[in-house]
Amino acid sequence: MPFKQDVYNRSVYREPAPIDHAADPFQAMMERFDVAAEILELNPGFYEYLCRPAHVHTVSIPVVMDTGHIRVFEGYRVIHNNVLGPSKGGIRYAPDVSVSEVKALAAWMTWKCAVVDVPFGGAKGGVICNPRDMSPGELERLTRRYTANLLDVFGPDRDIPAPDMNTNDQIMAWILDTYSMHARRTENAVVTGKPVGLGGSRGRTEATGRGVMTVTLAALDRVGLDAADCTVAVQGFGNVGSIAAKLLAEQGCSIVAVSDVTGGYYNADGLDIPAMIEYVKTHDGTLDGYEAAEPLTNEELLTLDVDVLVPAAKEDQVTEEIARDVQAKIIAEGANGPTTPAADTVLNEKGVIVIPDILANAGGVTVSYFEWVQDRQGYFWTLDRVNERLDRIMTRAFDGVFETAETHDVSLRIGAYVMSIRKVAEALRIRGIYA
Ligand code: NAD
Repeated sequence: MPFKQDVYNRSVYREPAPIDHAADPFQAMMERFDVAAEILELNPGFYEYLCRPAHVHTVSIPVVMDTGHIRVFEGYRVIHNNVLGPSKGGIRYAPDVSVSEVKALAAWMTWKCAVVDVPFGGAKGGVICNPRDMSPGELERLTRRYTANLLDVFGPDRDIPAPDMNTNDQIMAWILDTYSMHARRTENAVVTGKPVGLGGSRGRTEATGRGVMTVTLAALDRVGLDAADCTVAVQGFGNVGSIAAKLLAEQGCSIVAVSDVTGGYYNADGLDIPAMIEYVKTHDGTLDGYEAAEPLTNEELLTLDVDVLVPAAKEDQVTEEIARDVQAKIIAEGANGPTTPAADTVLNEKGVIVIPDILANAGGVTVSYFEWVQDRQGYFWTLDRVNERLDRIMTRAFDGVFETAETHDVSLRIGAYVMSIRKVAEALRIRGIYA
């Protein structure tokens, strides 16, 4: 019997080798993956294949600092999977970047792309550094050398980076330029999230927040709530949180609380979100000192009596303890991994609808896909076209996840994992295992 036949026969496989589930973000991903894999009765061989990253690249990045000294930074690029297409995922610059975190984020990208049905696999990058302590010149040299070290990994048909925490369109422009210099041609499809003047897509900056808005409205609709009667609290007032707050306010929601690293800001009558966005622009990127609101702690914000809570800051914010006090009916996860697995259990028992990260914040990668398509066609869409297609994809993904969850009588999170793992596993089954 040819090997391929055996690959799909569970009986030829021993139980998967135990995976080191240390207490880390990768474990949080694996806990959800395991539940979905069981529902799908995933072939143990596929299980082993899909829960491990395909490639983990570690690079040393020497940078001549402004002082003339050389500092060597450590960077990573993890390709989790590319069964559905080239791998896609952001690059994060932060002092606490770890390979485990990058592995988890890369896997989430695989599931996220599959949920919204864009033909990409999952990847993520990170560099251990503190960009706040670095000059623009140092950041540029770091970015260019990181790119040069990964020239054989990146490519419009191979692996396509994008911005993530502490990286932005300028950093994408440096990656594009470095890659293009080596390729001897301008290759703008090698990154997404770049400036519109360099082949970026209209609507990309707002896309993640817009996606959060679309799925929140879809969830409100399912539970029979009208946006105009709803109150919302948003944790994190960066790209995702501020745009989600602004767009939900435009839909009639009353945004009663927001927070950033400087603390929480509350107004029972609703905050003036456009004014707060303007304030951040002129106050070094934070709400520090904003006066038209009452102060609020992070914990108070997360447990406020609101209809919708949007965690849009960072991982592990809604813990088991916080979950017990959560009063929101709907949580729309703008951030990646804001809810711990233990908190999920509590929220499920309380009947809180959690729109999971791999669905709720997938608007960003969806418009990144649009950007890559536009670059490759050399034909750029209007903002209306981008937004209309984004809304359609997000609504379709929400409906698919909702129905999958209903069919298996599980949470939306497990529904999203089931839907995406099924899609990737099916592609893997059709492709077969190359030997
Ligand atoms: P950002 O850097 O623009 O904003 C982060 C915000 O969170 C800032 O306002 C910061 O002050 C705030 N913050 C940080 N720590 C906080 C804390 N302890 N309490 C309250 N606020 C805190 O980042 P972003 O692009 O908005 O990303 C936020 C999250 O969304 C991350 O998890 C990111 O991975 C995820 N995400 C972003 C995108 C995107 O397109 N930007 C796409 C998908 C997922």
